[in-house]
Amino acid sequence: RLRSGELAREDLLKSLDDASLRGLGGAGFPTGRKWRAVLGEPGPRLMAVNGDEGEPGTFKDRYYLETDPHRFLEGMLIGAHVVDAAEVYIYIRDEYPAAREILEREIARLPAGGPKLHLRRGAGAYICGEESSLLESIEGKRGLPRHKPPYPFQVGLFGLPTLINNIETLWWVRDIVEKGADWWKSHGRHERHGLRSFSVSGRVKNPGMKLAPAGITVRELIDEHCGGMADGHVFHAYLPGGASGGILPAAMDDIPLDFGTLEKYGCFIGSAAIVILSQQDSVRLAALNLMRFFEDESCGQCTPCRAGTQKAAQLMERPVWNKELLDQLSQAMRDASICGLGQAASNPLSSVIKYFPDEFKEAAE
Ligand code: SF4
Repeated sequence: RLRSGELAREDLLKSLDDASLRGLGGAGFPTGRKWRAVLGEPGPRLMAVNGDEGEPGTFKDRYYLETDPHRFLEGMLIGAHVVDAAEVYIYIRDEYPAAREILEREIARLPAGGPKLHLRRGAGAYICGEESSLLESIEGKRGLPRHKPPYPFQVGLFGLPTLINNIETLWWVRDIVEKGADWWKSHGRHERHGLRSFSVSGRVKNPGMKLAPAGITVRELIDEHCGGMADGHVFHAYLPGGASGGILPAAMDDIPLDFGTLEKYGCFIGSAAIVILSQQDSVRLAALNLMRFFEDESCGQCTPCRAGTQKAAQLMERPVWNKELLDQLSQAMRDASICGLGQAASNPLSSVIKYFPDEFKEAAE
């Protein structure tokens, strides 16, 4: 319908705007606005699809690629058509061989007449899920985040204006076009709108990909979608947004899970990876584990992140924590790191200090 002109580009963009569809890879940028921004740049333009899905605990993109790849492909083709991208680079997580095989097969079956599609394998670096290092990686370089501005919609892949979308964001485009923005907005809870694909893992009875209303609370998610807590486990804490989204105590189980609702608690929903911890887990050790992960995955380009994650992990290994030093270090990493990895790496640490004072001993002044 788009290609024949039966569906006007502007009408499609309006549907995305009216639905308030946001980037579901984690950043939550309004999709319609992003498409318009790319369109506002002089051509030629390109498109890149972020299928790196490296955030620990996130597996919704894999689920959609393995269960309904065509809906993603259709959304991608719509996006490429809207911004006039003659070529699309799909960057797929290397640890998803099944998804890659499915995509290879189904891309080969697409009718002629669309953009040229390139399927690129990631190489296992967490940082390549960050949009600008993803572009570097596609260009064949080491995945180092770029300074912004200019933003990828201005100067993206191979120096051209580039539309970058996550797999799931594109997956929903077709439904929103077909069923309308009101359908999308009719979902939601606690005054939030839309649907969210929660990747739930940890101490629940039935972990997995749970499609639920945006704004659902973690308690409702556990009870209504996960069959409750696993036997012998009592809900103790949760990660509302994967490794970098912070950690909250079970007592704060009534916060609507959505973009913008968790920031005031020092957390964010990101890619909606919910990890449930029980009384059998140590939140302090979980935060240390996450800091070690960030230390490993830091690309090393900037000092606050490269040295900060390492120092923080060392300090967190000590049974007695120097809270003041850790707070200062977290602040420096937040303020001075180039990209989101370094800026958010201390979220779990800050959460432990703020919400779980019983879990560590504080150094005497
Ligand atoms: Fe690399 Fe970390 Fe700096 Fe990001 S914040 S550019 S991951 S060193």
